[in-house]
Amino acid sequence: MIDLFSDTKTRPTAAMRQIMANAEVGDERANEDPSVNRLVARCATLLGKDAALYLPSGTMCNEIALAVHCKPGDEVICDATAHVIGFEGGGPAALAGVMLNPVAGTRGIFSAAQLREKLHSDRPYAPRQRLIEVEQTANLGGGAIWPLSTLQEVSKVAHAAGLATHMDGARLFNASVASGIAVVDYAHGFDSVWIDFSKGLGAPGGAVLAGSREFIAEAQRWQFRIGGAMRQSGIIAAACEYALDHHIARLADDHSNAKRLAGGIAQIDGLRIDPTLVETNLVYFDVAASGWNAEKLCAALSGHKVRMGAMGTHTIRAVTHLDVDRARIDMALAALRDALNAGV
Ligand SMILES: *Cc1c(COP(=O)(O)O)cnc(C)c1O
Repeated sequence: MIDLFSDTKTRPTAAMRQIMANAEVGDERANEDPSVNRLVARCATLLGKDAALYLPSGTMCNEIALAVHCKPGDEVICDATAHVIGFEGGGPAALAGVMLNPVAGTRGIFSAAQLREKLHSDRPYAPRQRLIEVEQTANLGGGAIWPLSTLQEVSKVAHAAGLATHMDGARLFNASVASGIAVVDYAHGFDSVWIDFSKGLGAPGGAVLAGSREFIAEAQRWQFRIGGAMRQSGIIAAACEYALDHHIARLADDHSNAKRLAGGIAQIDGLRIDPTLVETNLVYFDVAASGWNAEKLCAALSGHKVRMGAMGTHTIRAVTHLDVDRARIDMALAALRDALNAGV
């Protein structure tokens, strides 16, 4: 199976498993796991923040960040396509108790002017505006990269209005590798930021949330509150550290494979994509003109040993990652042609 469903489908490499087997471990809850301690210190430096916290997932990073920044009834401003809206089980409402005020951005990215239009002076009848949240890269925005200048402008506008800023960095390294801009520069101006190790970086799990010392102290309380504190998690943290050493530069391969895939899709009758919009490892294309709907075509594709994801009635997403090389991209393109030729 060529699995392009998500970059979460990567499996730990043999070398990564070896590092995991030999990892030094201790009780993470007592701050005694040397592998976890090393990883969080390294991530805090990497992201330019005072402190960092190891958590099981990116979802938990988002949920805890919202809960620390906000009180129940507060408002979070984010793009309408944000992961926190559609993919976290209603956590923002259930855990932080916040209102999400969606901005109709372009490809998951909104401007400082759009943010300004959302802001209002304090009114007793309105939810208190407390936080803005951005995704770098924007997942449902097609893996689009927030330009550094836009991030700086929105964070400036947010801070001037007394709001905090949070960055969902599930694919922050993809943005950095594609643009050549360091993650610390993207994270600058954001009060909290997290990176995911289970996406393109290829670790079996784990994410690191970074921010000020006070922010992380509160985040740790939430970690205990919702059961995100683990024990000998150095086994996974060692895989994350390995990923930092070995799996960042290679994200460029995923990006060139994504471009190759997009270029091939653009040549197939009935499929629509603008390959120039593929900036990182996410490839969204439209199947409407083929007469297929996305779910049926994905089902037909799996018969050809290729998995992609239906993201809308006529939208399919394919994600490149370290388990899919260039030759398999060409096989996936052949499978797409075969599935379509076999008829609706
Ligand atoms: C995957 C993802 C998350 C959640 O990360 P998990 O580690 O899967 O919980 C959050 N935001 C974005 C943009 C993502 O793509």
